Amino acid sequence: MSSAARPRPSPSELTRPFWDAAASGRLVRPLCSSCGSSFFAPQICCPRCLSEDWDWAESSGLGSIYSYTVCHRAPEPGFELPYVLAVIDLDEGWSMLSNVVGCDPETVRIGMTVAVAWQRLDAELVLPVFEPVGGDRP
Ligand code: ZN
Repeated sequence: MSSAARPRPSPSELTRPFWDAAASGRLVRPLCSSCGSSFFAPQICCPRCLSEDWDWAESSGLGSIYSYTVCHRAPEPGFELPYVLAVIDLDEGWSMLSNVVGCDPETVRIGMTVAVAWQRLDAELVLPVFEPVGGDRP
C-alpha cells in the first residue's frame, strides 16, 4: 500500500486548528463557552445552543466504540484492507468518526474501550486513529 495515494483531508480555516493539533499529537474538539457542550465536527455554531462562542479544548483521547463496520472494499485506492470504520464516543461527551487499528478487525466490539493513537501519513499529515486499551464499558 502506498499511503501517498490515500485521499487527504483538506483543512479549512475552521478545521485547521484540529489538524495542527493532531500534527503535534494532541486531540482537540470544539467546546462551547455558553453551554459547556463538546461537539464535532467543528462548525460555526454550537449544535446545542447555537452560540458562536466556542474554543478548542484538549481531549483525553479516551473513549469507547459506539458503532463500527469492517470495510472489505476500499472507497478509493490507498486503503489497506480490511479496516475498521467506527464512531468513537469520547469521554468528554463528543464523538468522531475514525479508524480502529492495532487489533484484528474481527475482535472489535461495541463498547470496547479505546485510546487515541496517531497515524502519520507524511511530513505534514497525522491522522487520529484509535486502539483498544482492554476492557468494555457499560
Ligand atoms: Zn452551546
